[in-house]
Amino acid sequence: MIERTLILVKPDGVQRHLVGEVISRFEKAGLKIVGMKMVWCDKEHAMKHYTEDITVRRGEHVRNKLLRFLVMGPVVALCLEGIEAVDVVRKIVGDTQPKTAAPGTIRGDYAHISYAYADAHDKAIPNLIHASGNKDEAKAEIALWFKDSELYNYKLPHEEHIL
Ligand code: GDP
Ligand code: MG
Repeated sequence: MIERTLILVKPDGVQRHLVGEVISRFEKAGLKIVGMKMVWCDKEHAMKHYTEDITVRRGEHVRNKLLRFLVMGPVVALCLEGIEAVDVVRKIVGDTQPKTAAPGTIRGDYAHISYAYADAHDKAIPNLIHASGNKDEAKAEIALWFKDSELYNYKLPHEEHIL
């Protein structure tokens, strides 16, 4: 039941000085950072992250906008570990569309843009965070962003008591 998941603070989150806030929310929930780095990726890498799956689910126009968005500036990549971490992280991140993301979630608290507005302005919805959508996605995305040697196994002092 202990899972690892991939998080990106997207270029809008880095540019809005929200890296610390985002990391803090995951840490406070007891998730363990097992990998972390800043990366300014190129289009080739972005295409491996936002695969054809996005085209199938959201359409080619969304994928093209996303590919432009992801290479606009550096992102902070995190690999987090915890109990059923994939779902827990998605809960903390909130709904894809900030307009409908619940208060208390990262996307709900720090953004409010809608799909309609983003589409009308020809941009991917800037929602601060990417978080793996399921366990298979997490496995593939962790392997894309991190080498095995960049991921660490260690015990938190309080791990036996608080998770
Ligand atoms: P996520 O897993 O919650 O990030 O959502 P998806 O995997 O479905 O989509 C990936 C990203 O594409 C989202 O985080 C948004 O940045 C963007 N996106 C998704 N759907 C739309 C859309 O309908 N319009 C626009 N402009 N961007 C979208
Ligand atoms: Mg997704």
